[in-house]
Amino acid sequence: METYPNIKSAAAIDAMIHYAETLLGVRFTSVRKNRYSALCPFHADTQDRFMVYVNKDDEVRFHCFGACKGDWDIYDLIMLRKKYRFRKAQQVWAEHLGVTDYEYNDGSSPGIPEPDESSEPGESVGFVEPKKGDEKVVAAMEDAANVYHDLLLSNEDRFKPIWEYLARRSVGKETIGKFNIGYAPPYSDEQYSGRALIDGCLPHVEKDAEAFDAFSKGGLFRFLNDATVKGYGYYCRQIDFRRKDPFSRNYADYFAGRMVFPIYDADAHPIGLVGRCPDDRGVRWLKHQNREVPLSSRSWLYGVDKAVRSIRQYRTIILVEGIFDYFAFYNLLKDQDKPVVVSTLGSYLTPETATILKGFDIEHYIVAYDWDELGRNGIERIAAKSGGWVYYLGGLAEGQAPYDMLKPVVDAISGFSLIRSY
Ligand SMILES: [Zn+2]
Repeated sequence: METYPNIKSAAAIDAMIHYAETLLGVRFTSVRKNRYSALCPFHADTQDRFMVYVNKDDEVRFHCFGACKGDWDIYDLIMLRKKYRFRKAQQVWAEHLGVTDYEYNDGSSPGIPEPDESSEPGESVGFVEPKKGDEKVVAAMEDAANVYHDLLLSNEDRFKPIWEYLARRSVGKETIGKFNIGYAPPYSDEQYSGRALIDGCLPHVEKDAEAFDAFSKGGLFRFLNDATVKGYGYYCRQIDFRRKDPFSRNYADYFAGRMVFPIYDADAHPIGLVGRCPDDRGVRWLKHQNREVPLSSRSWLYGVDKAVRSIRQYRTIILVEGIFDYFAFYNLLKDQDKPVVVSTLGSYLTPETATILKGFDIEHYIVAYDWDELGRNGIERIAAKSGGWVYYLGGLAEGQAPYDMLKPVVDAISGFSLIRSY
């Protein structure tokens, strides 16, 4: 009777090498006895970082010393490549060796999660700001926003549910254009399979690793075989072995399946993107950061690029929490070329956003959400510095008209009447 550990021992290494070469489409080089190397099939490898070795338990292991940093046995490789369950992977390997009398291990693989146990994890909104001076990353973010925007605009029928979703949240075609809102098609999309941006920029990325690097640093691509991330089981199943080039095989668009909202600073330079699922399950906003991305979102204020002049002119700001709250208030403005609304994309001011607000010399702070005491103290300290006033509207309930909340406050501010009359 053969068992799970003894058919992956050093005795089977030759069979394993040949099998892995066919399975993964790689060519191993023998380094010395029981040691082989190849270009890693799971990332864009350039120097044989994929190694085969025998560990102290006489077990053959596959290890990537490059981007994946993963360590797998033959069953894990079969699961990764074929997207099989652990039991099926054992069956395939035993049959390949001609073993008929095999005792299954009923546990689960320590390396690869079972396919049906892992769905895409929810992620909360996060932040991105390029390191100062990294013009290539800024350009990559601008490219990405434009690619997704063009896709959404030119596929009104195909992405009808997205258009309908945005319309329900008071975001119409004109607003989509003005705010450069876009859509990144999901992994399940037949044409793009979650790689609209990668496919769009791959022709020059292949010739230019630096361009790929800029998109990567901008947090715009997701590396699918990163065993250390939440949702690894879900993402590693999105590796597409039908694709020959290592970039679009092992990477996908970070925002796949999301509406995409670019974030600009007060000078209208893109400093990040935020993604939103078109359904209401789990956490809906996609964090745009990972350990490889040298970016932070701490200075994000959605809409500040549009608002900066009128905030200074009226010395008034309406602070809201989320992006759709932003549009609820934006739609009330009589003159939409002079919006005074800004979304903090979260329920508090960071020291960075507080510094930006201080620079505006604001007199009337209209706060359109429920802040806890800490949040209130923060805004009151800033207001006190400029001798300003803070008006709290409370949180905007689903279906509540922001006009009714805002009217009494606006009436109290003399000379300020940006609100449309109904
Ligand atoms: Zn690798």
